[in-house]
Amino acid sequence: MNAVSSTILAVHDHESEAAVPQLSVENLTLRYQTHAALVTATENVSFQVARGERFVLLGPSGCGKSSLLKSVGGFITPSAGRILVKGREVKGPGPDRVMVFQEFDQLMPWKTVLGNVAFPLLTTGKFKSRKQAEEHALATIAKVGLEKFAQSYPHTLSGGMKQRVAIARALAMEPEVLLMDEPFAALDALTRRSMQQELLKLWEELNFTLMFVTHSIEEAVRLGQRIILLSPHPGRIRDEFRTDAAEEAKHLEQRIESLLFTDGAGI
Ligand code: ADP
Ligand code: MG
Repeated sequence: MNAVSSTILAVHDHESEAAVPQLSVENLTLRYQTHAALVTATENVSFQVARGERFVLLGPSGCGKSSLLKSVGGFITPSAGRILVKGREVKGPGPDRVMVFQEFDQLMPWKTVLGNVAFPLLTTGKFKSRKQAEEHALATIAKVGLEKFAQSYPHTLSGGMKQRVAIARALAMEPEVLLMDEPFAALDALTRRSMQQELLKLWEELNFTLMFVTHSIEEAVRLGQRIILLSPHPGRIRDEFRTDAAEEAKHLEQRIESLLFTDGAGI
């Protein structure tokens, strides 16, 4: 190989590295073997998420959203297809993918807010010293507006505050992808609305890569830059939308609704 062609190759290598998606789901099929049957949760699902993107999976209950998220988390092994994070195949759970759930009881009740946020920073070895871990945890707790509650225990907090702690705990880990499974679904409408705003504000500040699951069209349009709509039994990609296009939010909501409810095929 002469010097010119090797230089070109080097440039291409560099470019392809930059083009590696943060998350790549390729022809993913997920199945559950139960006593009665083999349940196909999702079938042949493929998508990519770019670094710093707010990506939403939208679909009705039972379409396999949680299964998909859990497989990205490394908790479910694909029946077919594969999942890559920054080009590396997912083989199990890891600190590069952190999950926030819907439930309010995802915190350890015997640890304070600070203890909960600092815990994975220490156990994963992200920080070697407790002092450093706690400093980083406190800074993240302040970002979600809970600095006054750092020494409080989870049972003294409201549902919204507990979810904020769960978000702080996840963000403190600085994951490659933040995975959220209907994290605001159990909150009252007003708290839910303010949590959505807060999540967007945090994203503006920290620019993390987000994979968010919801069955609410409104929430999907509000939070996502890109939305994938899944059909149920088994979950397949039905359509894809971009919310940063000229289309207004209300218009997009109506379009998704009409796809779901007025189209004879249903979903
Ligand atoms: P969603 O989060 O969209 O409501 P899920 O991923 O929870 O959907 O479920 C998708 C399908 O897989 C459903 O039919 C559900 O009953 C089935 N399923 C989910 N988890 C299990 C499991 N552990 N064992 C057997 N079937 C399951
Ligand atoms: Mg679910």
